[in-house]
Amino acid sequence: MSTEDIRGAGGGSGPGGHRPLVAILSGAGISTDSGIPDYRGPNGLWRTDPDAEKLVTYSYYMADPEIRRRSWRLRLTGPALRARPNAGHEAVVRLERAGVPVRVITQNVDGLHQLAGLPERKVLELHGTARTVVCTRCRARSEMEKALERVRAGVADPECLRCGGILKPATVMFGEALDPAVLAEALGTARACEVFLAVGTSLQVEPAASLARVAAEHGARLVIVNADPTPYDALADRVVREPIGRSLPVLLAEFTRS
Ligand SMILES: [Zn+2]
Repeated sequence: MSTEDIRGAGGGSGPGGHRPLVAILSGAGISTDSGIPDYRGPNGLWRTDPDAEKLVTYSYYMADPEIRRRSWRLRLTGPALRARPNAGHEAVVRLERAGVPVRVITQNVDGLHQLAGLPERKVLELHGTARTVVCTRCRARSEMEKALERVRAGVADPECLRCGGILKPATVMFGEALDPAVLAEALGTARACEVFLAVGTSLQVEPAASLARVAAEHGARLVIVNADPTPYDALADRVVREPIGRSLPVLLAEFTRS
């Protein structure tokens, strides 16, 4: 993996030169080393167990108190809020701290990029965040941890403390639309970047697939780090199959050398 391979023509950061915007699209694969399974993947829980999928489907969640109670119990014991960032997340932080303009677009709701130390403004969460809850009636937002404290204290389906509405995680459930503002910013980033790294994502679902296509159409060098083939491998300047925790630190370190 040479520096030239990655930066390519028009990139680079020689003396007086500009530093290219690096967009990093991260998917479930970057968080599996942190113990968070790929629920949405082709063999993930949400695809293979229709009952589990109901827990993250807006209409079921809103209509059925038992679904909500089960969801809250799962959140108490699930890995998401206990997970710690891994070498992949830390490599992205090092890149940003080295002064390379970085924008992370993530499909993950675990907040691990920020927990690793990436500033909030550098992270676009396409599917929202599981660290925050939102009221489905008054839209008030509060910390997930505060809601979980109430569940631990015996409130099986905690309601909004302001208006009594149904609370849900601030994630995009099946049946909910992506935040158009977040999506627009992600597309803008894909258009503007000079390098588009897709890490741990199959690039088979929207909007991830479109973001990769838009980046490539606008001249970005496409780098794909994923265990399995993606539909964009043929378009990519570089495809890396090695585990993310090992390959991403090496790959990103090349951008910080000048
Ligand atoms: Zn409310």
